[in-house]
This record gives sequence, structure tokens and C-alpha cells, in this order.
Amino acid sequence: MSQAECGHVDQISVTELPVPIAGCEDCLAMGSRWVHLRMCMSCGKIGCCDSSPNRHANGHAQEAGHPIARSAEPGEDWSWCYVDEVAFVVDPA
Ligand SMILES: [Zn+2]
Ligand SMILES: [Zn+2]
Ligand SMILES: [Zn+2]
Repeated sequence: MSQAECGHVDQISVTELPVPIAGCEDCLAMGSRWVHLRMCMSCGKIGCCDSSPNRHANGHAQEAGHPIARSAEPGEDWSWCYVDEVAFVVDPA
């Protein structure tokens, strides 16, 4: 996969996952659960995936205008642009 299909890669400022990851910040705050975790690559916020009941990562992308989130699952390094709806892997700087 390439980055050519996403025009928002210049908005990436956070690539490294926090350690440890407590979980979806919004789900923890409301006592809910999540399926998989995503990290906003603009501000580093941890949210839950579209398979989760509350879809916080998607909601954050829409509300904050932060287009790209990466997987925060162990062993996964792909990113997703919510605007272009395209998955790609960010090349190491
Ligand atoms: Zn994009
Ligand atoms: Zn959540
Ligand atoms: Zn963000």
C-alpha cells in the first residue's frame, strides 16, 4: 500500500504508541468497552475502532478534524485515513 492515495500525511505528528496503553480514553471515562484500539496520529488520542459500540476514534476524527489514526493493536502498524477511507503504512522517518 502507498501513501499516494492520502493527502493528509502532512498532518501526522504522532507515530509512536504510548506505553502502556490504558485503553480507549472515552470508554474508560464512561465505563464502556471497546473491541480494538486506534491512536490519532495528529494528537495521540487513544480511541476505539469502528467495530466497537462507541466508535470513539471515528468520532474524534470527525469532531477534531484529525484525519488519520493508526492501529494501536500489538504487531499492527497500519494507519487509516477517515477522510480518504484508505489504509496505508507510514514509512519510518
Ligand atoms: Zn487522507
Ligand atoms: Zn471508546
Ligand atoms: Zn486527534
